[in-house]
Amino acid sequence: MSNPKLALFGGSKTIQTTFKRYNPIGVEEVEAAKQVIESGVLSQFLGVWHEDFYGGPKVREFERQCAEYFGVKHAVTVNSWTSGLVAAVGAIGIEPGDEVIVTPWTMSATATAILHWNAIPVFADIDPETFNLDPKSVEANITPYTKAIMVADIFGQSADMDALMATAAKHGLKIISDTAQAPGALYKGKYAGTLADVGGYSLNYHKHIHTGEGGILVTDNDEIAERLQLIRNHAEAVVGDKGVTNLSNMIGHNFRLGEIECAIGIEQLKKLDRFVQSRQALANRLTEGLHGLRGLRTPVVKPGCTHVYYVYPMVLDIEALGVSRERIHAALQAEGVAVSKHYQNIHLLPLYQRKIAYGSMGFPWTSDICRRDVDYSKGICPVAEQLNDSTYLGFGMCVYDLTEDDVDLIVTAFQKVWNSLDLLNT
Ligand SMILES: *Cc1c(COP(=O)(O)O)cnc(C)c1O
Repeated sequence: MSNPKLALFGGSKTIQTTFKRYNPIGVEEVEAAKQVIESGVLSQFLGVWHEDFYGGPKVREFERQCAEYFGVKHAVTVNSWTSGLVAAVGAIGIEPGDEVIVTPWTMSATATAILHWNAIPVFADIDPETFNLDPKSVEANITPYTKAIMVADIFGQSADMDALMATAAKHGLKIISDTAQAPGALYKGKYAGTLADVGGYSLNYHKHIHTGEGGILVTDNDEIAERLQLIRNHAEAVVGDKGVTNLSNMIGHNFRLGEIECAIGIEQLKKLDRFVQSRQALANRLTEGLHGLRGLRTPVVKPGCTHVYYVYPMVLDIEALGVSRERIHAALQAEGVAVSKHYQNIHLLPLYQRKIAYGSMGFPWTSDICRRDVDYSKGICPVAEQLNDSTYLGFGMCVYDLTEDDVDLIVTAFQKVWNSLDLLNT
């Protein structure tokens, strides 16, 4: 028996150390934040129709720079990307009872933003290679009540926008892009998130660039941009003086991002390309190292796309391997590789399974605004369900600041486990 003994069976662990945590914040951010604090004006927003309705100097500068970087007419900052998603659904004019098609393979907020306006999330299945919405499943889920598609560019790669935009155009639908995980990813020469009617990015502390909490909305549409700004900042108190006549969804919030966060964001944006390139280089090294391990599919990057690797996703061919994902996952974990074996099947959350959202009576599904019985049962998204139940493995590339040596250790651990697959088959 020449193979080294797996850590799972008492052998020595491949990775003995803890990798350094990813931390994009440097001295530039410290200095930028300090200057705002010393100015004494930590936010300059006013929730009335006034010059300061648009926020203070750092908010406006960060928004200008985001618009320039992403190549869009308007960037609107918000205090989280969850807030951004809520603002986006309201801004495109969704009415109560409208259906919005959404992916189940995403963070819960992608779908709850729809519910926020008493609209109905309808889950379509995903593409098994990219984990993004499958345009064919979207088409199959369109009803007379469908008004929009909520796309997520999950793990760092754009969804199939050409196909989704063609479907949207054919049926008169709007598209919102949740590009929280893919800032800087390209789709046919444009930044992911910018092809939709409205899209945007998260600045949450575990994303590529961050301000602690925060989000950036991007759009080329003047009217949508104005409605985003209104929903962000007490719309109902502003529309009268501003002369806004379309009152639909002009229920405002306080979704405003502060001056400190925007000052930090300005510095973070300057570093985005570098952070993206380093994640790509490490992911490519990992892919080269894992190449040839049978039954393991490394990330598929589609022609015309770049991947920014928020997560490095893998898929196991369980039949070819003859070993369950649970066993492989346990063996890799024992070697010190922090792979996860689940992502999300949000249609299976208790909220949708029991259809209990606002109050306890089943609103909005039990109300007249919901015009049909929407199915959330297990089985509606077989691809997403199978990946989550038995074949997916993922490694969080924005969790650690990996070195090339760290990547090589991860590869060694995979090779060690693959050399002893027979022993796991018990
Ligand atoms: C992080 C994330 C969100 C939420 O962003 P926050 O800024 O944390 O509110 C939404 N969707 C996806 C896909 C995300 O990864």
